[in-house]
Amino acid sequence: MKYEPVIGLEVHAQLSTRSKIFCGCSTAFGEDPNLNTCPVCLGMPGVLPVLNRKVVEYTVMMGLATHCRIAPESVFARKNYFYPDLPKGYQISQYEKPLCEEGWVQVRVDGQVKRIGITRIHMEEDAGKLVHEGAFDSSLASYVDLNRAGVPLMEIVSEPDIRSPAEARAYMQTLRDMVVYLGICDGNMEEGSLRCDANVSVMPAGSGTFGTRTEIKNMNSFRFLQQALEYEIERQIDLIDAGGKVVQETRLFDSAKGVTVSMRGKEEAHDYRYFPEPDLVPVRVDGEWIEELGSKMPELRQEKVERYVSRLGLPEYDADVITADPFVAAFFEAAVDAGADAKKASNWVMGEYMRLVKEKGAGAVKVTAGQLAAIIGLVDSAAISTSAAKQVFEEVSDTGRDPRKVVDEKGLAQVSDTGAIEEEVRRVLDTHPEQARQFREGQEKVLGFLVGQVMKATGGKANPRVVNEILRRLLSG
Ligand code: ADP
Ligand code: MG
Ligand code: ZN
Repeated sequence: MKYEPVIGLEVHAQLSTRSKIFCGCSTAFGEDPNLNTCPVCLGMPGVLPVLNRKVVEYTVMMGLATHCRIAPESVFARKNYFYPDLPKGYQISQYEKPLCEEGWVQVRVDGQVKRIGITRIHMEEDAGKLVHEGAFDSSLASYVDLNRAGVPLMEIVSEPDIRSPAEARAYMQTLRDMVVYLGICDGNMEEGSLRCDANVSVMPAGSGTFGTRTEIKNMNSFRFLQQALEYEIERQIDLIDAGGKVVQETRLFDSAKGVTVSMRGKEEAHDYRYFPEPDLVPVRVDGEWIEELGSKMPELRQEKVERYVSRLGLPEYDADVITADPFVAAFFEAAVDAGADAKKASNWVMGEYMRLVKEKGAGAVKVTAGQLAAIIGLVDSAAISTSAAKQVFEEVSDTGRDPRKVVDEKGLAQVSDTGAIEEEVRRVLDTHPEQARQFREGQEKVLGFLVGQVMKATGGKANPRVVNEILRRLLSG
């Protein structure tokens, strides 16, 4: 029997606000343990939470980007459970009335565009972190760090519309692009700013009835998500084929072994006893504010890719590479605005620029988009050769100095003076009579050697086009 997987993701994104969701503590990552805390996020009795407006703003922006309905009134709820790093004994989340509902995103997989439904997007607080001393299973001691307690999260729940691990990965990538371009989450998966739980089941191909699902918890890389789903789908199919039944349970992905293992079964499933949070009033967002936020929405990655291809004539490959990072995309666009040809700017950005950023870090690359446009202009007007341009680019990147000055100082100006070049060509032909004869006898490819000799003699500064012309003229004369 052939099976078809059904997948739905619950994605948590840490919102990049400066302060926490219900208090003024900093959200900075990597501080000393428990430094970013106060009575509110430590869960002291008698304190009251105050909602951070930015959290609502960011979640509305994501809701708009994913075509959700924004609830005029949404409600926070208490989700009760015990964790050593959750001192209140409950997490403030949203349950029955989330902020955003019923949206969709478009995902591209293998050149095909597919729509994945969004069930809901809600706001909640993160818990703290347990730090274990020694190995996890023979821990000497465990410490509680509450710096992360109260950091704002947005949870995005998808419909069970995903049909393959590759699609799940593409969906997750699309969400990451969105939050990064919206500037509402740094998208840093290693630091856990973006993580997901994957629900997966299998059903006989063509059947409309979903199978029993398992949920794989807390994956923080695209590769692990795809691997975990591939393994889990195989496991479920093998189980059913062997006459067994999938049990609804929570599983963990062991990335070292590449397998999922059972964490807790349904009988241990939490009963969270949700109820409306009595310490917070319902959240009202008025239509005017939503409209204002809508009008300020930046262009997202998918829109940029489409525009680069249709308006700037870039190959889709280029558009994809350049838009992977919004800062790179902004640099590219500024170079085009400064007059650079789009394809030439794209070559520079994908080549030299991204190479230097990778080598030295974005902060150390001082070349501006205007300077890149100027360098492209210098090549176009034959003032410098392509190889000299690379030297100029590197120097400008290091120092931020004016490209024209760098050209002058380093003596990189290309010689297009035909008189001077002709002199060199004659000298080269005198010292290489054998090759000159071979060319005259029809061995075209010897010309490349002779051009090379002239370029060498001029220290690479001769305009190769002019060298070619003069060589051909003298050799045919
Ligand atoms: P819970 O509250 O237990 O996490 P939800 O009903 O909110 O359950 O669903 C969580 C996720 O599971 C959603 O993304 C949904 O699309 C997905 N899902 C629901 N049923 C199935 C199924 N049979 N197979 C795969 N995914 C499913
Ligand atoms: Mg769940
Ligand atoms: Zn606090």
